[in-house]
Amino acid sequence: MKILEDRILKEGKALSDSVLKVDSFINHQVDPVLMDQMGKEFAEHFKEKNITKVLTIESSGIAPALTTAAYLQVPMIILKKQTSKILNGEVYQTRITSFTKGTSYELTLYKEYINENDNVLLIDDFLANGEAATGGSRLIEQAGANLAGIGIVIEKSFQRGRKRLIDAGYDVYSLARVAKLAEGIVEFVEE
Ligand code: 5GP
Repeated sequence: MKILEDRILKEGKALSDSVLKVDSFINHQVDPVLMDQMGKEFAEHFKEKNITKVLTIESSGIAPALTTAAYLQVPMIILKKQTSKILNGEVYQTRITSFTKGTSYELTLYKEYINENDNVLLIDDFLANGEAATGGSRLIEQAGANLAGIGIVIEKSFQRGRKRLIDAGYDVYSLARVAKLAEGIVEFVEE
């Protein structure tokens, strides 16, 4: 998506060869117009998939997931990051290791918001090693629902997440695909 790539080149900061900072329009300050455009693009891409719910992971996935859900006219569900297990039987949980922070958390979904009739679109801000997305897919599986597609705002194509998700048979659509990062350098995959 050209407008997103241009914005990354203008405002993104490659902190190292593996971390891209986009705090001025995605992760800290949020550009609502760009979020709307991205939601429209995701909705257009997945429109034939009969999506019934859009799932995302707090907190930076929420903005693009909300606009996508609005265009698809379905509810959005936020998977919560809990520090510990909830033992009351009302939730699905799975353990995730965070790429940026190196910490672990329990990704949590209340059972009442999803069931085996749901056709789910998972949206997240970044795809790195695929930990968050595969964790989301485990919860969707626990619920007996179908993961119909995965929409990613920024995919770091040089990390293993994309291959992992494609190998698992998922339909992955990324709005920007970063081929290379180095201090001060961002290059995209030629498509
Ligand atoms: P994964 O689970 O695919 O290994 O990592 C994806 C998650 O880590 C995303 O939800 C995002 O929050 C965070 N993340 C991974 N790489 C980056 C990055 O380069 N920049 C930012 N801002 N977040 C990242």
